[in-house]
Amino acid sequence: MTTIAQVRRGGWWLLEDTVPDDVFTPERLSDEHRMIGRTALEFVTNEVLPNLDGLEQKDWELARQLVRRCGELGLLATDVPEMYGGLALDKVSSVVVTEAMARSASFGATFGAMTGLSIMPILCFGTDAQKQRYLPRLVSGEIVGAYALSESSSGSDALGARARAARQADGSFLLNGEKMWITNGGFADLYVVFAKVDGDHFSAFLVERGASGVSSGAEEHKMGLHGSSTAALILQDVRVPASSLLGEVGRGHKVAFNVLNYGRFKLGASCCGGAKSVVGEAARYAATRKQFGKSIASFGAIKHKIAEMTARLYAFESLLYRTAGLIDLAAVAASDHASGTLTALEEFAVEASIVKVAGSEMLDFLVDENVQIHGGNGYVHDYPAERHYRDARINRIFEGTNEINRLLIPGMLMRRAVKGDLPLIPAAKRLQDELLTAPFDLSGEGPLEGERRLVTGFKKIVILTLGAAMQTWGERITEEQEVLCFIADMAIDALAAESAVLRAGGAQRDGTQAGDLHSVAAQLYVQDAASRIERAAREAIGATLEGDLQKTALAAVRRFAKTSPANTVALRRLLADRTVAKEGYLFQ
Ligand SMILES: Cc1cc2nc3c(=O)[nH]c(=O)nc-3n(C[C@H](O)[C@H](O)[C@H](O)COP(=O)(O)OP(=O)(O)OC[C@H]3O[C@@H](n4cnc5c(N)ncnc54)[C@H](O)[C@@H]3O)c2cc1C
Repeated sequence: MTTIAQVRRGGWWLLEDTVPDDVFTPERLSDEHRMIGRTALEFVTNEVLPNLDGLEQKDWELARQLVRRCGELGLLATDVPEMYGGLALDKVSSVVVTEAMARSASFGATFGAMTGLSIMPILCFGTDAQKQRYLPRLVSGEIVGAYALSESSSGSDALGARARAARQADGSFLLNGEKMWITNGGFADLYVVFAKVDGDHFSAFLVERGASGVSSGAEEHKMGLHGSSTAALILQDVRVPASSLLGEVGRGHKVAFNVLNYGRFKLGASCCGGAKSVVGEAARYAATRKQFGKSIASFGAIKHKIAEMTARLYAFESLLYRTAGLIDLAAVAASDHASGTLTALEEFAVEASIVKVAGSEMLDFLVDENVQIHGGNGYVHDYPAERHYRDARINRIFEGTNEINRLLIPGMLMRRAVKGDLPLIPAAKRLQDELLTAPFDLSGEGPLEGERRLVTGFKKIVILTLGAAMQTWGERITEEQEVLCFIADMAIDALAAESAVLRAGGAQRDGTQAGDLHSVAAQLYVQDAASRIERAAREAIGATLEGDLQKTALAAVRRFAKTSPANTVALRRLLADRTVAKEGYLFQ
């Protein structure tokens, strides 16, 4: 049995058994969490959604007013200590608020660029003077922040930035360059800007819009998120004092990557909130739309879609809240809020990347099926399904593309293994011995027992393929991107499946309302994950091992991912019917 102390380490879920009490779930939200969640949801429902047309027409004064309202309601304050005007709440609170904000994807992006990308770097890397100067005004919504890392020639390769900061004799810096696609770029007052000092040392700066030489480009004409400003930031001989350096010269990558860790995790929360709206829309439309004299919700093909939407959202939500709980536990263990947050975000960087990829792809699946359920009405502006579809697409691109995040997941696990932070190599060796000797027992009695065993099998498959990849290629593994991406896919499914099974197990044990439906959702996700994992493992092993080693590994994969027969059609029908009857996501 795993102790809480063990699961506080990033990546350890792969090697340890976890029990329901070790994971945070939405069922464990406190009254305080629910209260701030309600405040955020009421704000979005009553003040943002009715103003969506104005935002989509790029009324940035309106966006500013809404940001100020967020400030008044304390919604920008969750991560910030009280001494800077914040509420010093936990990360679960931030997730709950971010989920609610995402009911409007565009305003959610404005909000995310404020909390995750502007407040967070100052909080974690700012001097006390910088925190005093900016945090209270960002938290109150008096000023709007933006994060300027990308350039036209350096998006994924962020450290290849061309923007320059020339050090002046008096200690100030002269900034020149052009940053691209900056969220809130058209109206922000404060930018976290990345530039190379003396052409070489990647560093972060706090640049105010009022500074001479700062201007923004025209608004980008985007596929979606029309109600969120995206514009270039142009810096022409912008002189900033030495005191505007954020962190140290040459340490900008620390700022950039840690902020992205948090941004990725929060992007997951945003996808979760967006997905909940979409399930509700799909269920309501399916219930009311009639064809062939019947509501389309009565057709098996539509039930299949609604049930898959629910099951995938359930597994992702379980993964998201579990990760939030892990980050909170690690952050609480530290004496200082800012350094604790930073340490926790670094510790769970693998999980943040998993949350980012899983959340954005779960949402894309849901918005696509929502359009399909809406038929022709899903393709026209009159229904929100079309906007959701367009708005969601960016999530796979920003905060590090999903390809970059997929490469990071096994990459970071392997680095931890080599450093000795994660005993992956001995675990892979033990597994190799086990394959030659002990048969893997798949039988299981009792509710969710088969799923628990499958999850154990999924994790063994990840360990097996990771170990084989490290052994076969060593450092050259970075050139085998396809294999790394297959391993990432398996790790994502394994963690999501385990999180769903643990949550469903807890719900059943505690007699949670609709506990049986928790189990159905978890069962469906695990069944689907088994075939995805088996396929990915076959591809990875096919490219990694040869001869007898390959045969043994493939046989093990077949055993580890072998599902017992189940009537998944009946399970999906049950989940879909209940979702339609509730007119929304079942587990909120
Ligand atoms: C609406 C919107 C808002 C944004 N907001 C911000 C913001 O607020 N601040 C900010 O700094 N940036 C922002 N961005 C920029 C965004 O972060 C970048 O677009 C993103 O990082 C991808 O960079 P790129 O567009 O240059 O794509 P590229 O890096 O050119 O990637 C193109 C393709 O190649 C793949 N690829 C690249 N490198 C590799 C590799 N090594 N291995 C395998 N595949 C690879 C990518 O995954 C992708 O599929 C925003 C962009 C948009 C569209």
